[in-house]
Amino acid sequence: MGELCVRSVLVTGANRGLGLGLVQHLLGLPKPPQWLFATCRDPKGQRAQELQNLASKHHNLVILPLEVANPTSIKAAAAKVGEHLGGSGLNLLINNAGIVKITLLENETLEDMTEIYTTNTVGPLLMGQAFLPLLKKAAQGSPGSGLSCSKAAIVNISSIGGSIASFSAWEMIQASSYRCSKAALNMLTKCQSLAYKEHGILCLALHPGWVQTDLGSSGGHTPPLTVDASVQGMLKVLSSLSEKETGTFLDWEGKILPW
Ligand code: NDP
Repeated sequence: MGELCVRSVLVTGANRGLGLGLVQHLLGLPKPPQWLFATCRDPKGQRAQELQNLASKHHNLVILPLEVANPTSIKAAAAKVGEHLGGSGLNLLINNAGIVKITLLENETLEDMTEIYTTNTVGPLLMGQAFLPLLKKAAQGSPGSGLSCSKAAIVNISSIGGSIASFSAWEMIQASSYRCSKAALNMLTKCQSLAYKEHGILCLALHPGWVQTDLGSSGGHTPPLTVDASVQGMLKVLSSLSEKETGTFLDWEGKILPW
């Protein structure tokens, strides 16, 4: 299995946690992307300090504002990415931004269900729509008929928590709004894979493992995986994907997960 080699990548929620880890590891690849778009809600703010430090050292890193629950913000980011790329397309879109609220089923509310669904499910839908022209352009510009992340791909960072068949860790954390949003994200991934296959775009739902981030630790337990281990695993998986895997649900080790 070779290293991931991809010309242009966009990561949402890139200022901390897994998003930041993905950016760090992509920059450290033997052949880093020529264009790496790290997007976050407040690129100039304190929460994006680490990204700003990285951008001062890596000229291929472009930080852009992007709020995934806001269609206007998404369209503006797509236009900016298009300007940077000139005539070429975007190869890899990683929909990573996500939120959780740790709540018992009886305490879920309309507001929480809506906010979490909007961020975790509608966000990736709108991202896929807005970036479709750039993804199509990337696919058209890549030789060969197969699918791959080097050519054109949408990777939705999902969660085993959204798996209906495994209902993982229910006794520890209920978070039904989060589980529903990720189950719906899995279905969205399948729909995207069916709709976008003819355009040469691979679509994958990817579970990063249970990882030591703010989100991963929010239930009050310490997750077993470091960001580095999860991201290394995920990038290895991405490097190996082909047509066979489009529309599937994999984890950071490349194992197929039950929907
Ligand atoms: P973190 O809480 O560490 O980071 C979440 C990121 O998402 C932050 O950059 C945050 O930005 C961003 N974000 C949240 N809402 C929005 C929004 N509306 N628009 C733009 N950005 C937003 O979480 P993780 O890194 O752990 O999670 C990354 C992904 O991995 C998520 O999709 C999560 O569901 C998934 N995942 C994580 C697991 C884990 O154990 N950590 C397990 C399974 C899945 P800001 O700083 O502005 O809030």
